[in-house]
Amino acid sequence: MPVHNSDVEEIFNEIADLLEIEGANPFRVRAYRNAARTIGSLSRNVRDMVEEDEDLTELPGIGEDLAGKIETIVKTGTVEQLEKLRARTPPGLTKLLDVSGLGPKRVQRLREELGVESMADLERVAKEHKIRELDGFGEKIEQGIIEDIEESKEKEQRTLLMKAEQVAEPLVTYLKASEVAGDVVVAGSYRRRKETVGDLDILVTCADSGPVMERFVGHEEVAEVVSRGETRSTVMLRSGLQVDLRVVPQASYGAAMHYFTGSQAHNIAVRKRGVERGYKINEYGVYRDSEVIAGEEEAEVFRAVDLPWIPPELREDRGEIQAAEAGELPELIGVGDMRGDLHCHTKATDGADSLAAMARAGRERGYDYLAITDHSRRVAMAHGLDEKRLREQLAEIDRLNEELAGITLLKGIEVDILEDGSLDLPDSVLAELDLTVCSVHYRFDLSREKQTERILRAMDNPQFRILGHPTGRLLNEREPFEVDMERLVEAAAERGCVLEVNAQPSRLDLRDVDCQMARERGAKLAISTDAHHAANLDLMRFGVDQARRGWVRPADVINTRDLAGLRQALQRS
Ligand SMILES: [Zn+2]
Ligand SMILES: [Zn+2]
Repeated sequence: MPVHNSDVEEIFNEIADLLEIEGANPFRVRAYRNAARTIGSLSRNVRDMVEEDEDLTELPGIGEDLAGKIETIVKTGTVEQLEKLRARTPPGLTKLLDVSGLGPKRVQRLREELGVESMADLERVAKEHKIRELDGFGEKIEQGIIEDIEESKEKEQRTLLMKAEQVAEPLVTYLKASEVAGDVVVAGSYRRRKETVGDLDILVTCADSGPVMERFVGHEEVAEVVSRGETRSTVMLRSGLQVDLRVVPQASYGAAMHYFTGSQAHNIAVRKRGVERGYKINEYGVYRDSEVIAGEEEAEVFRAVDLPWIPPELREDRGEIQAAEAGELPELIGVGDMRGDLHCHTKATDGADSLAAMARAGRERGYDYLAITDHSRRVAMAHGLDEKRLREQLAEIDRLNEELAGITLLKGIEVDILEDGSLDLPDSVLAELDLTVCSVHYRFDLSREKQTERILRAMDNPQFRILGHPTGRLLNEREPFEVDMERLVEAAAERGCVLEVNAQPSRLDLRDVDCQMARERGAKLAISTDAHHAANLDLMRFGVDQARRGWVRPADVINTRDLAGLRQALQRS
């Protein structure tokens, strides 16, 4: 990772914060703050200056010592002093700086006078009204602190499934490498493939928990050990994700897996069936009086309550128990069912790769077809295609299709749905395409009624095929826009339009419950990656997981069909 000026600025500011929390000499603190400001406002890249061996001490406020540190940061990305300061400062302490009204000076005093070293400590002393007693704090600041903590609790962000995976998978591999660990599995909403996870719940089977716990808390990503016990430990990772590790005996593995996979609502429903049959079900097993009758395998737990095993993605108490009882659980779609991708971008607009590179990537994934859907002209920021440039692209697709073997490029466009519900390119050119992905990219603020009307009007256009990312949401960033999804689903089913399940991990749009509704009402679905570079085609599995949470079967999704079947499914009714 190349170092930017802003990285140097951040490091110097963090050093200043940590020094100030320690009560260091104010002149030293100020020197770092000044240096941070100097580098932060530099018009040139400090990396280039180091590489060209320029004299950094000519910059205002930069002496020999700081110049040396800048060089080290540019070369290594960090500096020893920062690492030392971080190592001797409790990690919870610097988080306190995010609380409004708390600068390093106040944090230092809270630590010295009230022993505050974490957010939990801060909340406690604030609620015990100890803060108002301190000189220079007072009631108002104390109240502000309490409000800020409450607010940040509400805002606490969940982690995107893909990000959680990037942390969980190496951690599982690491734990499996322990000689005493048996099975290692991540349960919880992660196993249910929910779009975001609050924390990770890892289960490990082994006879002797000591070495596994030791290994767990010693992992290099661990920032803080919250608690450590014989059967359960909790750590906070550097990424801010909390991880619980539970060691369970092999005989309880299935019961624990079921219990910790949840959801809570699903577990309650299963436990209730247990009670009706005279059983007690918990994380250790299924009991009749004090006798264990099941527990080693998850399927046994279901069998005890007269149900077949239910896929984790369905365990939300949204009808899966009743369906299982009636023998009507859906045969869920899998990533191997996908025959192609129907939404991707190339460097003609905001993608990174050429048509040919995208085609090769599709073929490498075993696809029969790949639809090229660059942006239309209204998305000026992405250099959207007008009619002329689109026609040029179509000619290139024809040429490529002649020389390509093993995959067909389909002609498409991600055409904007304009505010009045019309499409951003003339019908005449849209009619030449194999398909259109029609998307809302602006005016998310329309009323529910107007937004619904806008999209329904777009569906009136006979060139409309697929509704792209139907709610416009960006997880953790932008709420879905207001729209009557039930009406959209019904209209799509009636007119033979298709709803997209956008597989981008930050979108996963349709939502799971909407997938389920679409499936029930007979609206067709397409699962597409919206890839902006070739490697993005691998995101398909996240869209498939989302569809599985929505009870979707292969037959509900048009891009599980071969090319002829797809062309047929794209026909409007
Ligand atoms: Zn889009
Ligand atoms: Zn797109």
